[in-house]
Amino acid sequence: MDYKVEHIGIAVKNLQTSIPLFEKLLGSPCYKTEKIDSEEVNTAFFLQQNSKIELLESTDPSGVIAKFIDKKGEGMHHIAFEVPNIVEEMERLKKEGFTLLNERPKIGADNKWVCFVHPKETNGVLIELCQSR
Ligand code: ZN
Repeated sequence: MDYKVEHIGIAVKNLQTSIPLFEKLLGSPCYKTEKIDSEEVNTAFFLQQNSKIELLESTDPSGVIAKFIDKKGEGMHHIAFEVPNIVEEMERLKKEGFTLLNERPKIGADNKWVCFVHPKETNGVLIELCQSR
């Protein structure tokens, strides 16, 4: 499988302060913000060409991003790979013994189908598979 890094997800406490910070860092404006109700997050996206940065802020104090920050602090949360056929790739990874965090692709940020792979079998890195809808 020829994986392409679609984006890197970064958990932040507060988008209001992190958006200007990343605009300064990357020298490019945040081009989109999006609230994902199913994941209890607000997202903000940067860069658009080869890859993206996705900032994630929890909308719920007991949401997954809030819990992640409680445990590990702000920082890198996941790497997302674009795959041509997410269902096939999920099947392949399941057969290889990886644990998928959702049984079917779900609708994620940026108009994509997504599936997460449990970090326990990936050296602690949460992996997101995504495919454009
Ligand atoms: Zn993501």
